[in-house]
Amino acid sequence: MAIIDDVVRKTQQAGKFVADKATDVYDLTKASYALASLENKMDALMKQIGTLTFEEKTDGAAHEEELAALFESAKVLREEIIEARMKKAALKNEIACPECGKSNDKDAAFCSSCGKKLKD
Ligand SMILES: [Zn+2]
Repeated sequence: MAIIDDVVRKTQQAGKFVADKATDVYDLTKASYALASLENKMDALMKQIGTLTFEEKTDGAAHEEELAALFESAKVLREEIIEARMKKAALKNEIACPECGKSNDKDAAFCSSCGKKLKD
């Protein structure tokens, strides 16, 4: 019966749609969590850098090597954060600004926050 076939086909399509949406939500949640985790690491790193810099400037403590190592870690982390922002934005069909991290419409030519050119 054509009507039964039609109902079965539509039910299968609806099931696939729900499964795809669930996967999208899961991927976006995972990407959001990964980004938040990296941003928390960066906050902790910046706090450490701030404390050591404060000690150097006020107490004359020498933390040069320690600070240099923390700066290197922060540079690596900064790149990872940019990558994580790009990944999250792509899942939302957006584009993350490489300069400030703001999500923009995927067709945007310039960042709506800082004005950086997003497309060539
Ligand atoms: Zn920007």
